[in-house]
Amino acid sequence: MEGIRAMIVTMESDAGNLATEQVTSMLRSRGYEVHLLAGSGASAIGINGRPVADDLGPALCALPGVAGVHTPSRPYRLAARETRPAGTVVQIGDVAIGGPEPVVIAGPCVVEGREQLLRAAEAVRDAGAVMLRGGAFKPRTSPYSFQGLGEDGLRLLAEARELTGLPVVTEVMEPEQVDIVAEHADVLQIGSRNMMNFPLLRRVARTDRAILLKRGFASTIEEWLLSAEYILAGGNDRVILCERGIRSFDPATRFSLDLNAVPLVRELSHLPVIVDPSHGTGRRELVASMALAGIAAGAHGLIIEALPNPDLAACDAPQSITPDVLAGIVSQSRAIRALLQPRLAAVA
Ligand code: PEP
Ligand code: MN
Repeated sequence: MEGIRAMIVTMESDAGNLATEQVTSMLRSRGYEVHLLAGSGASAIGINGRPVADDLGPALCALPGVAGVHTPSRPYRLAARETRPAGTVVQIGDVAIGGPEPVVIAGPCVVEGREQLLRAAEAVRDAGAVMLRGGAFKPRTSPYSFQGLGEDGLRLLAEARELTGLPVVTEVMEPEQVDIVAEHADVLQIGSRNMMNFPLLRRVARTDRAILLKRGFASTIEEWLLSAEYILAGGNDRVILCERGIRSFDPATRFSLDLNAVPLVRELSHLPVIVDPSHGTGRRELVASMALAGIAAGAHGLIIEALPNPDLAACDAPQSITPDVLAGIVSQSRAIRALLQPRLAAVA
């Protein structure tokens, strides 16, 4: 019978780098592949590559700083809740995603021009958003639709950050674009259509940027967490999951926002999870209700398409909301989260 091929070593939350290095070098000297989860919470080390020797667990437990070892019970390992039970908090400047405060990210679907973006950035900041969204490279279903301003759009996003102080999140679609997007953006978004673009996942794992990983609209939760695993195993533990709706049989809404995913993913994984009620519904009159439902379900935040003149938006106008509606969502999200905090804290 083939032996166990994987193991996770969890470190004490106050174990220093030295203790972690001692574990990784011991493992490497024994010929194991090592994947380090570190930076945004208690460190853990994934062991892979060859059957785990019987004496390895006890030898690891004898090292300073080691909290325990376990055999992963699911195909994703570093992403599993048991690997970092206290949860991951992704820090982006002053913004902490995964902590007690719900984080609201807002802005236009697509960066259309300087005035449009700067006015939208100020408006969403004034409404209480703490991060700005806006697409520069857009994944469009039709090759004839507006594909975004590309690098010019990235420069405008950086200007909007200068003006407002809001960190920016924007999509990257191809491995070749990663460097230029990372140069301008604080958070790299992997869109729903690219959730299983494994070369892209491997490439963003090598950056020091936080990654917003949207769920593929026809992907299972396990596939989604395995995509997160690519990024974690590649050395980047700053991953934020985003539930953005799945395709169902019913054309009444653009997608079906799967809010089951929120408490389930919180149970299965230590990664923070946010909700996108804009793409999840496709209809602006549903956005506030589903945003608040997402927070009630335990989401750590929201990403919402909002701008001063939603009807004029070049992309996704029907699902874009005004800054006034956004302001209501921000304050009501805080109230709901405060009400639920004792229960959510029990999950972590
Ligand atoms: C977006 O947020 O701009 C977007 C295209 O979303 P998704 O990838 O979820 O469709
Ligand atoms: Mn959009």
